[in-house]
Amino acid sequence: MNTVLVTGGAGYIGSHVVQQLLEQGERVVVIDNLSTGFREAVRGADLVVGNVGDLDLVGQVMAAHHVDAVLHFAAHTIVPESVCDPLKYYGNNTCNTRNLLACCAEHGVEKFIFSSTAAVYGMTDNGIADEDTPTKPINPYGTSKLMSETMLRDHSATGAMRHVILRYFNVAGCDPQGRIGHSTPNATLLIKVCCEHAVGIRESLSIFGTDYNTPDGTGVRDYIHVDDLAAAHLRALDHLRGGGDSQTLNCGYGHGYSVREVIDAVARAGGKPLNVIELPRRPGDLPMLIACSDRLKRVLDWQPHYDDLDFIVGTALRWEQQLLCKRVPLSSVA
Ligand code: UDP
Repeated sequence: MNTVLVTGGAGYIGSHVVQQLLEQGERVVVIDNLSTGFREAVRGADLVVGNVGDLDLVGQVMAAHHVDAVLHFAAHTIVPESVCDPLKYYGNNTCNTRNLLACCAEHGVEKFIFSSTAAVYGMTDNGIADEDTPTKPINPYGTSKLMSETMLRDHSATGAMRHVILRYFNVAGCDPQGRIGHSTPNATLLIKVCCEHAVGIRESLSIFGTDYNTPDGTGVRDYIHVDDLAAAHLRALDHLRGGGDSQTLNCGYGHGYSVREVIDAVARAGGKPLNVIELPRRPGDLPMLIACSDRLKRVLDWQPHYDDLDFIVGTALRWEQQLLCKRVPLSSVA
């Protein structure tokens, strides 16, 4: 039986995909260096601890496990960090993807699913992006992913493989059953930050910009539940296994929420108002970014199941409460 190789499968999104692959009866091997991932997030799959750019290691794993498809999540993902340390992003996100593709070529792996990002678009005319919207990333994170997309397309054009590039919009929420979640330390993503504040880990929450040309002046984003996103990966795998052609697909719900709407949802879920500080705009932020996801629905027959901000936020907050319980040492519990 063939095996799916998941790089970065111990991380936030990768672990949710691994969970769904296992539930579908797939054999899964994960390569993760555990720099931001967690061993316990890999529930039931083989875990190899190492770097995706390590040609020998990846080659050994591909040969030993009869890998027929790669799902590539391993990457650095913090936009402000990418601005301060771009080479870290081009090294880990772009160069390592190149090495992974070389391993695929050497070991005859012909199906590749790539975690890309809405950050490849940059500023759009009307805040809505479809897959043909020009790509003009405004930070090294977006550029590092766009360069990987280009390599993939060029490599696939030789006939060596077929790929699905999934461009994620704002991924949020956690496994509704509470088995895995978003545990990344020093989070900067809005919903995670709000939930950390709601459980008392942060004293306040900052709104970056209240003077955008949006209905309430704050930034608007398309938040997609991580399990709906994970399901898109399984559909993409079916598509490639069924002989489908290479695709680039936006992953979002096609509508957005403002920062204030997200804050209100977290306050509702937690039953108390948040302590909000209004700050100037964060450099590099866009007023609005929403997916046109018609192609995802059409090509992969994907349908969302969790398109509900209160549900998304509820799962994120429950996970944060679970993390908090783990952090409290038993001796301090009265
Ligand atoms: N944001 C905010 N406060 C925070 C984090 C984010 O006001 O502590 C805003 C940010 O300016 C953007 C939206 O929330 O308008 C989503 O930002 P996030 O960092 O979650 O994702 P991005 O869209 O930047 O990838």
